Amino acid sequence: DKVQRQRDREFNEFRERLKNTEQFKVEQSVFDDATLAALYKLVQDGYVRAFGGPISSGKEATVYSALGDEERGEVAVKVYRINASDFRDMRDYLVGDPRFEELGGNKKRVVLAWVRKEFANLKRAQKAGVRVPDPIAVQRNVLVMEFLGTDGERAPTLDDAHLENPETAFEVVREYMRRLYDVGLVHGDLSEYNIIVHDGELCIIDLGQAVTIHHPNSGEFLTRDCANVASFFQRQGMDVRGDELEAWIREH
Ligand code: ATP
Ligand code: MN
Repeated sequence: DKVQRQRDREFNEFRERLKNTEQFKVEQSVFDDATLAALYKLVQDGYVRAFGGPISSGKEATVYSALGDEERGEVAVKVYRINASDFRDMRDYLVGDPRFEELGGNKKRVVLAWVRKEFANLKRAQKAGVRVPDPIAVQRNVLVMEFLGTDGERAPTLDDAHLENPETAFEVVREYMRRLYDVGLVHGDLSEYNIIVHDGELCIIDLGQAVTIHHPNSGEFLTRDCANVASFFQRQGMDVRGDELEAWIREH
């Protein structure tokens, strides 16, 4: 009981501190107590030592920079909003995934499964030899991963990066897509915006919506990913086609 009271006090202090931190003020309304508790747990478990500012604020999540453990240095912390209004189609991406069945209609459970799915997908992609941010920890609606960037400055997306050699970049992306497909994954939102150029390497990000090939729409998603990728490299002056890319991925 005494221990519990002490814990409550520590958590309250943490919560107040975070709520009064400049960079979180804009986010105050979305950081409900459960999210704060998740962030607190990550601090307690040593995955995060301090929070930095927001890197990006998307529809479903905000990505923050943070200080990880001694070994890691900087990390990226992706905080999903449980109460965001557009989780309408999140559930559609979990259909047919044998890892995430029996979710029912509960929004919170869908979001929490989504975060675990992103973590699992990052692991699976990494194991398959695809360069992704190293997944570090997942706690409720919060994902901690390797920060892609240097000195607090996030690395550019493929869209923003200056490409010396689009041919090589295309071959790498094609190979990554093939490796993902080989382990039964289709990214589902692949484009120049979800590929980061870090340290001379291409890294695939944002694997939350990635589906297994058992998903009823996985074929359609693969076709769309291939079209996006082909279209980007066409604009770099290359003669590539979405359908040929897809055929190559399926055949190799
Ligand atoms: P959006 O709706 O904008 O696509 P999202 O919720 O899908 O956002 P991500 O695509 O995963 O989230 O990340 C959004 C942005 O945050 C990325 O475009 C990238 O610039 C940055 N980002 C994400 N993960 C990392 C990381 N591990 N290291 C550095 N920057 C990152
Ligand atoms: Mn994205």
